[in-house]
Amino acid sequence: MPTDSRKNHAGLSDFSDFPSLEKGTVWLVGAGPGAPGLLTLLASHAIGSADVIIHDALVGPDILELAPDGCALIFAGKRGGMPSAEQDDICDLMIAEARKGHRVVRLKGGDPFMFGRGAEECLKLSAAGIPFRVVPGISAGIGGLAYAGIPVTHRTTNHSVLFLTGHDRQGVVPSAVDWNGVARAAPVIVMYMALKHLGDIADRLIAAGRSSSDPLAIVSNATLPDQKVRRGTLGTVRTMLRAQGIAPPAIIVAGPVVELGERIHWYRDRLRSNGNG
Ligand code: SAH
Repeated sequence: MPTDSRKNHAGLSDFSDFPSLEKGTVWLVGAGPGAPGLLTLLASHAIGSADVIIHDALVGPDILELAPDGCALIFAGKRGGMPSAEQDDICDLMIAEARKGHRVVRLKGGDPFMFGRGAEECLKLSAAGIPFRVVPGISAGIGGLAYAGIPVTHRTTNHSVLFLTGHDRQGVVPSAVDWNGVARAAPVIVMYMALKHLGDIADRLIAAGRSSSDPLAIVSNATLPDQKVRRGTLGTVRTMLRAQGIAPPAIIVAGPVVELGERIHWYRDRLRSNGNG
């Protein structure tokens, strides 16, 4: 490749070749698991171009700080156990803001399509005739676990991974889950929104044939300076949950890759204090 056609760092970071966030459109943007350095360039460009950002509780202040002066920040999510903003209201708000001619960013933790209701919002935008774009993000179930040194795949341990939500619309363990199927489907199970019902979920997996000695890790506040990692097994989750410092958000993983985390665990001490990125 001739040198002059190569992008240098400045060329990428001034975003000049990137799509522009047009007036009257909505971008559904994944903000990654928390550390601002895990935003994609396109996400960072979107935030910097927005007139309005409608964000979830999982999007932290370090990321919201990147919003331009004058940009309206609207919180639409769950906080402190309060009921979440109704999904229909959030969609109506996005549509109304776009119709006012604003550049709207709907900013979500992780990836918008990983248990993030991104698809529901796209369907509503599409039905309303509002142009939109999806900006994928690093999901907690991959990037968050990487900060605990846990790879979701490893050649000698697993050829598949299963992503599971521990909540259904009513906030209870999803009744529609085929637990026998889940227990057998993949050596590694990554669980989102599963902290509250983890004891129940572990019981169901064990009843469905999963070994109670399956290694399990709970990673709370993944990628953030107060990240905590607790390791145990499917059979010891109730004891693990009593340990100090396990608070939502937490991503949970069961399977042989958890053991690798003991050796690969790189995000600690010196690295943690070396900037919040
Ligand atoms: N779209 C998001 C997931 C939304 S569901 C994504 O792709 O990551 C919310 C769940 O994500 C939380 O209950 C938790 O299980 C997980 N999660 C998100 N951010 C996290 C973080 N920083 N640390 C641990 N878990 C996190």
